[in-house]
Amino acid sequence: MHMRLVTARLLAFLRRIAYNDDMTKKKKLLIFIPLSILSALVVVAVSLLGALFWNRFSRGVVPTEAQLAAVRAAGQTYDRVVIFGVDGAGGHFGEMDTPSFDRVFLSEERGGSVTYEATAQYPTESAQNWGSMLHGVRSGKHGLTNEIASSRPFTDERYPSLFKVYAERHPGAYMASVVDWDVVNGGIIEQGIEGLTRINVGELVREEVSGLDWYASEYAIDTAVAEEAIRELRENDPVILFTHFDCVDAAGHLWGSGSTKYEEAISHVDDQIGRIFDACEEMGITDSTLFICVSDHGHKLTGGHGRNCPVVRHTTFAVAGGKGNVISGTPGYVVTQDLASVVFYALGERQPDAWDSSVPKNMFTGLA
Ligand SMILES: [Zn+2]
Repeated sequence: MHMRLVTARLLAFLRRIAYNDDMTKKKKLLIFIPLSILSALVVVAVSLLGALFWNRFSRGVVPTEAQLAAVRAAGQTYDRVVIFGVDGAGGHFGEMDTPSFDRVFLSEERGGSVTYEATAQYPTESAQNWGSMLHGVRSGKHGLTNEIASSRPFTDERYPSLFKVYAERHPGAYMASVVDWDVVNGGIIEQGIEGLTRINVGELVREEVSGLDWYASEYAIDTAVAEEAIRELRENDPVILFTHFDCVDAAGHLWGSGSTKYEEAISHVDDQIGRIFDACEEMGITDSTLFICVSDHGHKLTGGHGRNCPVVRHTTFAVAGGKGNVISGTPGYVVTQDLASVVFYALGERQPDAWDSSVPKNMFTGLA
């Protein structure tokens, strides 16, 4: 009502000026030009403020002590977290035939909070994103790049990884990081973390894969990643099990995300997810485990990543657990670093103040 009145008066005012024969054209322009500039500025300012506030309010929740106490009291913390890290898969899990992923993350009994449009760090590179996921901060803070992570260990104590924080709080806890890309264990996660077993699977199967081309060797290593992960679950029951698969990224670089080879690679990793999940079922631990599937970046249809276009910036972020507190459907805004917060919340742990990650909204009933 008021808005209508204001608009009507403004239009009447403008009309009076426009049709006023006593005023020169120059004088009219002197009124209209500044008015147009002012209106444009108001539109820009309102849009910027809107974007700022929309972003702020759509970001997730940093769980408070009270929220953590509530989830612990409700018996809805998990005994362990199993992370399927799929390099280069982006949001493409959503487009492909992935029966195992669907069984774990889209099941009625576990509830599945799944998005294929989580936001990757820019530039959309591997170390930037695995670094953010494991250290709970955006890439500008941890400063990791593929070159840096490949050449020296991470030593910045301001941004400890989830493994380091957990190990310091729980001496004697057992964790495992089973990776195809050994840079994760060598340059992204800090060295010397007690209780963290690092398995660089490529080194384990070096002889078996020697002579194979890049894709074939990554394909074989990923099979072995699943075997090592299953062995770890059976023998050591890690509280945090991180796995990293790399054949999808190789297929992306070689043939692009639009290729049948890329589809084959996703399907291969999907099979490995299924094998690990089967092992959890056999051990009877699916209900007490939070399963997470994440990717660091996608691939262009013709291959490659690094830029800021949706096909490489969107990634899969899927969470499922049998404690009745995972909300089925699509979560709110997710950034790759939120992995750290989700892991800690699932274990009933307070996240360090230094992290700028949060638990996405509409993911857990206790934080909805
Ligand atoms: Zn990558």
